[in-house]
Amino acid sequence: MTSARAFAAPSAKEGLIETHIQRREVGPHDIEIEIQFCGVCHSDLHTARNEWEVWPTVYPCVPGHEIAGQVGKVGNQVSSFREGDLVAVGCMVDSCGECASCQESLEQYCDAGTTVFTYNSPDPHNTAPVTYGGYSEKIVVNERFVLRVPKDLDLASAAPLLCAGITLYSPLRHWQAGPGKKVGIVGLGGLGHMGVKLSHALGAETVLFTRSDSKKEDGMRLGADAVVVSGNEDEMQTHSRSFDLIISTVANSHNLDPYISLLNRDGTLVLVGAPEHPHPSPTVFNLILRRGSLAGSAIGGIAETQEMLDFCSERGIVSDIELIPIQKINEAYERMLKGDVKYRFVIDMRSLKAGK
Ligand code: NAP
Ligand code: ZN
Repeated sequence: MTSARAFAAPSAKEGLIETHIQRREVGPHDIEIEIQFCGVCHSDLHTARNEWEVWPTVYPCVPGHEIAGQVGKVGNQVSSFREGDLVAVGCMVDSCGECASCQESLEQYCDAGTTVFTYNSPDPHNTAPVTYGGYSEKIVVNERFVLRVPKDLDLASAAPLLCAGITLYSPLRHWQAGPGKKVGIVGLGGLGHMGVKLSHALGAETVLFTRSDSKKEDGMRLGADAVVVSGNEDEMQTHSRSFDLIISTVANSHNLDPYISLLNRDGTLVLVGAPEHPHPSPTVFNLILRRGSLAGSAIGGIAETQEMLDFCSERGIVSDIELIPIQKINEAYERMLKGDVKYRFVIDMRSLKAGK
């Protein structure tokens, strides 16, 4: 095992502090990545503060699943990556590889339930009780879960594609967003701003829903055809029964009915936001009277993540980021809660080495 610097939450009630963790030795199929950038997802905050009852946090907790960096050591059986390659790791680092879902490269839905998430999953290598994420100088990952970052993408701005990007790309593709389809994206945060960019790039008519009047201009700049302030009933009403697909990225529990009312016949409301408390149950008649569907979606598989990175490279799509030193992470969590970031914090991991 080798020691690595990291930032960890010691408990649900304390801020993150600097610490040392262990990383496993590089096995035959492993790649050691020198992490240069790591995006800050709202899931990091939910986990650091133990907000998900269904998935209790084991401490210390090292969050971070939007990891971008350079290949360091490679295992002796690794043939597809070389030292110095620009690579990335998202929300998963392993799965059974054999079940029907894994065979389809939908590893996040592993039928054997063995998806190993990048942090706070039982560590199959027993390096620690749970996996430790990307708020760290390095990570060792099986090559099957390592993505290649196209050279023309700025590495820091590409990091958020590994969670925020793929979490929107996957449902957009699954529910066939494209020309002739009308898509709504709810919430302009890290996930939402990628949703607007990707839906627009896929050719769908794209409408952003936000609580904030002040985000209208940004919504249009990011590629929305219209921006609706969700608290304004008249504005909402003009889109009644018109959407094929609406994706909610909202990180808090909220009333789903106003969005279900905007679905066209056979439309689908997909929930990707994962709030601490459940949403109030929607009105059944709203769904019945339009043969509507209420669905969920988790990140995206490895093959689809690579497809998304290549799509973003072709279209010149990256995340709008604010680069921070890791020492500002606790402040960044508070600012994220207030919506005070445009639109994703990314940690410059050099700050960890510099110790500033
Ligand atoms: P974020 O940057 O904080 O954005 C969340 C957005 O939700 C906010 O910008 C805000 O948009 C809106 N919002 C917040 N509170 C709201 C409320 N009470 N009512 C209505 N809208 C509200 O968070 P994120 O990183 O994008 O993550 C969003 C959620 O997705 C989190 O719960 C996260 O854990 C989850 N997530 C899920 C997956 C998955 O695979 N399913 C993957 C990654 C993250 P406006 O200000 O524009 O209204
Ligand atoms: Zn995430």
